[in-house]
Amino acid sequence: FDVYGAPILGNDDQLKGVVLVFHDITELKKLEQARKDFVANVSHELKTPVTSLKGFTETLLEGAMEDPELREKFISIIAKESERLESLIHDLLELSKIEGSQFILNMDEVNLETLIEDVFLMLGEKAALKNITFHKKFIGNGTIYADSQRMKQILINLINNAVMYTPEQGEVTVRVREQTETVILEVQDTGIGISKKEIPRIFERFYRVDRARSRNSGGTGLGLAIVKHLIEAHKAKMSVESEVGKGTTFRISFYKQLLNEKREE
Ligand code: ADP
Repeated sequence: FDVYGAPILGNDDQLKGVVLVFHDITELKKLEQARKDFVANVSHELKTPVTSLKGFTETLLEGAMEDPELREKFISIIAKESERLESLIHDLLELSKIEGSQFILNMDEVNLETLIEDVFLMLGEKAALKNITFHKKFIGNGTIYADSQRMKQILINLINNAVMYTPEQGEVTVRVREQTETVILEVQDTGIGISKKEIPRIFERFYRVDRARSRNSGGTGLGLAIVKHLIEAHKAKMSVESEVGKGTTFRISFYKQLLNEKREE
């Protein structure tokens, strides 16, 4: 608590009483701590690829360059680490944009089917490398009121995770189901799953269930934090169902009310 005190004086300047104001600063302290943790995490996350870039370039310069096998190996590590650094900076900038006061959504009628097809095309090669098949299932026409670019970003992050955390020969199914008041979008995989205990934490920035696995697959640990913000900005609701070893389903409900209001305008 922060405490402020002030005397209450009578007409004769005699002390009549004291006002004490107790200000609960627990929330402020928590925010301050969260900010500090975030800065520490960002620094650590940036430092890891930079240290490795520096190490491998130095080793190359000190002679490893002469050995064609080592040269090939080190240069491909350098390429991979630079890519990681690039995605990390990209995601950090995205997150700060989305959280910024200037952030506005460009809302319009959006057809989910076209967006899903675009994202399947984009991630097709990555899925094919693991023999993962994509499926798309529709009940209703799947038109929602949303920012199409941001909606695509949500789909990319969720479908990319589904591919990343699903072993070879798995399946990723995107379902769209129109109901009376909502349009439900589901991204389901047959992957490694997430335990009940971890589910509430996966939306935190930089939280990963398995750090090494996320790093190796090029994850930044920011994808779901970005998704969470974007879903909130769309006034939609998200839930997660998962079973370890069986798979995970991310479910988003969009309110049709918003689309109806737009059409009545
Ligand atoms: P990352 O870049 O590490 O994937 P995200 O914010 O996208 O970061 O996800 C946070 C963590 O949630 C991941 O590291 C992973 O442990 C877990 N996760 C996300 N999506 C899935 C999924 N479809 N199946 C299993 N685990 C997942």
